[in-house]
Amino acid sequence: MTDLSRPDPNTQTEAKPDAIAPPLWLLAELTYRCPLHCVFCYNPTNYTDHSRELTTAQWIDVLREARALGAAQLGFSGGEPLLREDLEVLVGEARQLGFYTNLITSGIGLTDARLDALKAAGLDHIQLSFQDSTQELNDFLSSTRTFDLKKRVAASIKAHGFPMVLNCVLHRFNLPHVDRIIDMALAMGAEYLELANTQYYGWAHTNRAQLMPTAEQLQEAEAVVNRYRKEIGERCKIFFVVPDYFETRPKRCMNGWGAVFLGIAPDGAALPCHTARSLPGLTFPNVTETPLREIWYESDAFNRFRGFGWMKEPCRSCDEKERDLGGCRCQAYLLTGDPANADPVCDKSPEHEHVVQVVRAAATRTPEQQPAKEQPILFRNDANSRRLAATGDSRPQAQDQDQAISRGERT
Ligand code: SF4
Ligand code: SF4
Repeated sequence: MTDLSRPDPNTQTEAKPDAIAPPLWLLAELTYRCPLHCVFCYNPTNYTDHSRELTTAQWIDVLREARALGAAQLGFSGGEPLLREDLEVLVGEARQLGFYTNLITSGIGLTDARLDALKAAGLDHIQLSFQDSTQELNDFLSSTRTFDLKKRVAASIKAHGFPMVLNCVLHRFNLPHVDRIIDMALAMGAEYLELANTQYYGWAHTNRAQLMPTAEQLQEAEAVVNRYRKEIGERCKIFFVVPDYFETRPKRCMNGWGAVFLGIAPDGAALPCHTARSLPGLTFPNVTETPLREIWYESDAFNRFRGFGWMKEPCRSCDEKERDLGGCRCQAYLLTGDPANADPVCDKSPEHEHVVQVVRAAATRTPEQQPAKEQPILFRNDANSRRLAATGDSRPQAQDQDQAISRGERT
């Protein structure tokens, strides 16, 4: 395992400030508080350890500094960003600064009065999440009764003239409903539909055994999506990305570590990707203590995986490294224990068999089956977060499976 507490001289030589492009996309995670309890939430499982939130003035400083650096796209996210009463103030500031703004929301709390205020403040775009096209599954997966409310919110968003992305995270429970999810998005007048196959970080990694689909489910869903794309043309643009575990090459994660994306967590920690906090041995600088320019260009955390100098074999000498940059550091850590390894999604990785076994385990049961030995699905809530944070083990079930695979046991 790489010692992340010490700077890697290779990395230092690769990451000269004058070679680093400015950030383009700022994600402001305003709060980890959320009325929903999604089983696939990408927030850290120990989010209750990070409950402090920046003040309005501190967020405004972040927006100004990020814009001065060159960031142009701004997402307000969370948790649920509508729980911040100053959201409209921040949107107004962002508008004045010239950001293109997107609100990423569950819709809970998005009343007509707030839509009026957000419109007046200059919000450009809204991304509304659904868990499924059926009330039963939507409400089960979020552990709330919110389906009907979300439908009313979708109608209000359109009535206020906002462009709308409908987002639905896909997994073995709802992949068979893809046609109905598309029909729902069309009926609601969404301009875009993001069918986001689950990425296995945070709560989704903890619930991986329950959420992992079969290859057949994915193939069938993709065929449905392609059929709809032909039928509906430009009426609604549908995004569908196959999950990493079913590929043999990793994705160019975040378009590169510290390349275009700058995330600010509710407490002010600056992150090169949403889930970077799960990596050991890295201290993420806080915007309340360090200027954003210094964080982006000079901090150890943002320079650690820039360039190619940090890579080990097989990535170091691989002729494809400029295409995928070795994949995802968080996935490499979660599945191999070392964030400097090749993303094991890659079939050149000596640990690729690990991914194959997880997929194979999913294929051995029908989507309805759940092995008796599995723990129940874990909802994202404060009690579970505190329990996971207290045990220092943020991913018990998947970790057990990962460790068993590493020991050479079949799952
Ligand atoms: S995924 Fe669900 S629980 Fe997590 S922040 Fe979004 S709405 Fe809240
Ligand atoms: S070995 Fe590394 S650089 Fe090469 S294709 Fe695989 S992940 Fe990408």
